Amino acid sequence: MFLNSLYKFIGNRISPAGAHARLSILNYHRVLAKRDLLFPGEVTIDSFDAQMFRLSAAFNVLPLFEAVERLKQGTLPARAVCITFDDGYADNFTIALPILQRHGLAATFFIATAYLNGGRMFNDTVIEAIRHAQPGRLDLSGLGLGQHVLSTLKDRARAINHVLSTVKYLPVDERERIVGGLCELARCSSLPDNLMMTNDQIKSLCRAGMEIGAHTARHPILAGLDAVAVKQEIMAGKQFLEEVTGMPIRLFAYPNGKPGVDYLPEQVAIVREFGFAAAVSTQNGAASQFSDPFQLPRFTPWQTNIHYFVPELLKNLRNGGE
Ligand SMILES: [Zn+2]
Repeated sequence: MFLNSLYKFIGNRISPAGAHARLSILNYHRVLAKRDLLFPGEVTIDSFDAQMFRLSAAFNVLPLFEAVERLKQGTLPARAVCITFDDGYADNFTIALPILQRHGLAATFFIATAYLNGGRMFNDTVIEAIRHAQPGRLDLSGLGLGQHVLSTLKDRARAINHVLSTVKYLPVDERERIVGGLCELARCSSLPDNLMMTNDQIKSLCRAGMEIGAHTARHPILAGLDAVAVKQEIMAGKQFLEEVTGMPIRLFAYPNGKPGVDYLPEQVAIVREFGFAAAVSTQNGAASQFSDPFQLPRFTPWQTNIHYFVPELLKNLRNGGE
């Protein structure tokens, strides 16, 4: 309790209520049912629950749309934080939602619509194909993805990271082709088709008071596309979600999200044109009144030690936004 009072005291100094308030927007992807030995740092049901408990004790958690409006008006409460999830994973509904509800917290879910209802994002195809590949040599040099020896978990994690860092920046069709080739070489017979949400789960999130945001259809790196393709991707995602939810989609998250790398000023202008109220990046830091509402920074909690969760958040609250 003493520690929590201290956190609030420090938080009030860094981010007081009103015009000098700052806004920390947390960025999650998956919340796993149990620890994945390939990715031991990923958030699990237990660590997410512990984080939400501490978050609600030390910060004022707001829905993102409301927070953005209040940031512009200079009426945010002290220690303001928002919670967001990217991509549309089914575990956001099955695991994260009940935890959020138990703690009385609202969140925004940015969804890439092309992979819903039994689809799979390219990164998960790579992860699952290499996870299940036979031990031994995996020669992906024909695809420009190097040669790998898979014996330990570490080898598999290394191979996954190597492949992902390469295919992430390929044009979407090329990316699909290469990932398909990888599957053949890794001889994976059945890959999971239940990783992403269904339309019904998205509707239920909405009915539970959560906000749905756009994240394009196929999750391309926008900086690599021409204006027509950028508009198509953003519009397809937005329209799909508006049909499913029956609500206006007011918020957008740039795929991958690094300013100057994954998206450029011309794509920010397009997002603005589409009538979104705000957009978020993956640039670290907290927003202030002076931040561009179409490039709000976000913070990915990375500490596996729960005791550092609030201190890291306070550090992030102090960072950027000028
Ligand atoms: Zn994403």
